[in-house]
Order: sequence, then structure tokens, then C-alpha cells
Amino acid sequence: MNPEEKDDKLETLLIFETEKEDEVRLRDDLVMPTANTDYGICLECGDQIPKSLLDDHPDSKFCPECRDKMGNHTD
Ligand SMILES: [Zn+2]
Repeated sequence: MNPEEKDDKLETLLIFETEKEDEVRLRDDLVMPTANTDYGICLECGDQIPKSLLDDHPDSKFCPECRDKMGNHTD
């Protein structure tokens, strides 16, 4: 992982936590205590979530394929 990528992920994560702090904390406790370290990984299939999707849906925990299976449900 190069430094630029790391910084970009960290910045996204900080925005994510600021906007969704309460909701995320609740969900992480229930679903995945270590979710922060796996941010950007699909919770359904474990694939990397494309940055293009995270740009549009910073709170997405699922890859496009799994989102599609769920009927575009926005977690
Ligand atoms: Zn997936």
C-alpha cells in the first residue's frame, strides 16, 4: 500500500465516522467489531469495494455485485 492510498482511505474513513458516528458504532458492535480495519471490504463476499463506489456511497459496506443482489439496498 503506498502512502497516497493510505491517506486517501484515512480521509474517507474520518468523513465516514464524523457523519455516521452513532449509526456506525451501533452497527459495528452488532456485526463486526473490527470493521474499521476492514473498511472498503465487502461484508458479503469479502471483495475490495471499488473506490468509485465509495466516492458515491462512502458508507457502503458491500461491493457493487452484492448491492445489486440486494436490490440496490443502501445498507
Ligand atoms: Zn460483495
